[in-house]
Amino acid sequence: MIDNSSKEFKDRIQYGSTNLEYHIKRSKRIKTSELIVDSNRIEIRTPLNKSLQDTRNIILDKADWILKKQKQYQETAQEIIVPSFGENSMLPYLGKNYSLKIKKNQPTQMMKFINDEFVVNITAADGDEESKLQIKELYEDWLKRMAQKILLRRVKIYGQKVGVNIQKILVKDTLKSRWASLTKKNSINFNMHLIKAPPDVIDYVVLHEICHLKIRGHSYHYWSLLYRYMPNYQEKIEWLLKF
Ligand SMILES: [Zn+2]
Repeated sequence: MIDNSSKEFKDRIQYGSTNLEYHIKRSKRIKTSELIVDSNRIEIRTPLNKSLQDTRNIILDKADWILKKQKQYQETAQEIIVPSFGENSMLPYLGKNYSLKIKKNQPTQMMKFINDEFVVNITAADGDEESKLQIKELYEDWLKRMAQKILLRRVKIYGQKVGVNIQKILVKDTLKSRWASLTKKNSINFNMHLIKAPPDVIDYVVLHEICHLKIRGHSYHYWSLLYRYMPNYQEKIEWLLKF
C-alpha cells in the first residue's frame, strides 16, 4: 500500500517488460525534482506537493535513460570477461567490458571502438563459428595496435620518471600469465592482452619492467625503488593475480 501523504516510500511502475521499483523522497526544501540513479537503486526527490502521478510521469519519461545508466554501471562493475565473440556479447578494454555490435554480410572487415561500444563489420553472414573467428581476429589485431600505442606512451612517461631510456617495445600475443619481460637489449616485450586491464594496473606492469632496467631481480632494493613511484603497487599485483 502506498500512503500518498507520506514523505518517503517505494513505488513501482511498469515500463515495457521492465518493472521499475523506485524510492520517492518528498521534502518542502526541494524546489525541483531530482533523480538519483545507481546500479541497483532509483530514487527521486520531489517537492512536498508533487502528486504521485506527476512523479510517475517523470520516471516514465526518464525510464530509457535510467535503464541505460544502470546497464553502464553494471558493465563497469563487472570483472574482465573472457570474450565469446557472439551476438550480444562484450569485449574487454582498459579494465571495462564494452558491448559489441556485429554488422554481418559487409563487403569488408573492420573493427572500431566508438562511443564506448565496439562495432565490427564482418563478411560472414551469420552467427556461426566463421563469424566468431573473424571477430576474434579483428579484435586481436585492434588490441595489438592499441597496446603498441598505449604501452609505448606509458613506457616513455615512466622511463623519464625513473631515468632510463627505452626506445623500443614489442607487443606480442603471449601466454596470459606472462605480462611483460625485458630483453637482453633492454627493450620490453609486452603481452597484448595486458590492455584489457585497468590503466593503473597497466602502469604497474610498465613500471615493474622499467625498474628492472636499474635493478635486475626482485631484491628488497628493487621493491623499494618501485615503491617510490607507486606506493600502492601491492593492489595492482592482487588485481593481476585475479585477472
Ligand atoms: Zn620482475
